[in-house]
Amino acid sequence: MASNSLKHLQIERLNPLEIDKALAQNSLVFIPLGAIEWHGLHLPIGLDSLTSHGICLKVADKKGGLVMPPFHYGMSGSIWHHPYTILIEEEEVFLGILKTTITRLETIGVKKVVIFTGHFSLRQLNALVTLRKEWLTNQNSMELSIFSINDCPNIEMEADHGAIFETSVLAELHPDLVKLENLLQKDIFPANDVNGNSKGDHRRDPDNVLFGIFGDDPRDYDQPKAEILTQKIIDWLVQSI
Ligand SMILES: [Zn+2]
Repeated sequence: MASNSLKHLQIERLNPLEIDKALAQNSLVFIPLGAIEWHGLHLPIGLDSLTSHGICLKVADKKGGLVMPPFHYGMSGSIWHHPYTILIEEEEVFLGILKTTITRLETIGVKKVVIFTGHFSLRQLNALVTLRKEWLTNQNSMELSIFSINDCPNIEMEADHGAIFETSVLAELHPDLVKLENLLQKDIFPANDVNGNSKGDHRRDPDNVLFGIFGDDPRDYDQPKAEILTQKIIDWLVQSI
């Protein structure tokens, strides 16, 4: 179910006539959000936006509408100092670009925008709550819905950071970008989680076998489970918007 074939739903690739035609059928635009951050040696630093973009394309394929280019920059979290991590500290910087985007989409005549974030640091989620409150207070005419990947109900895996959940979803959307072979062999180097705590501070130690990965061991990746998980997220969004 790789998402590479849905290029005709990526708004930045389309000319005005193609955009008019798509939005006349459903005046709906998706804005996928992410972050640039360390996700372990096996995953790309832009995982969150690769995932949210891929999911939005799948949902647009079912519901109609078009998908904006993903925002690769997101708000800081607790791992801002990890290698190759570039996160935004100031809420007004993050929200500024987003507000400009949705305001312009409203002016252009779009009826509904769905923001979908694959990055769910508390500060990112709080900023999005602020954005939605402001949008409602200002009584804007365009409908604005905001969803976060960690809100998907009835799934067997908890959303995590670079662990089994994020590895599984990205593997379904972009199998070529997941390199589990970059991690040490699990039978020789198992996770050293005390009391089964896969999100403890020991994972912040650069010498830890799962450094910078928070959640259950991604080396337990299982394709059929990943397919079910990803489909549930897509179905949830399709039903929610
Ligand atoms: Zn992530």
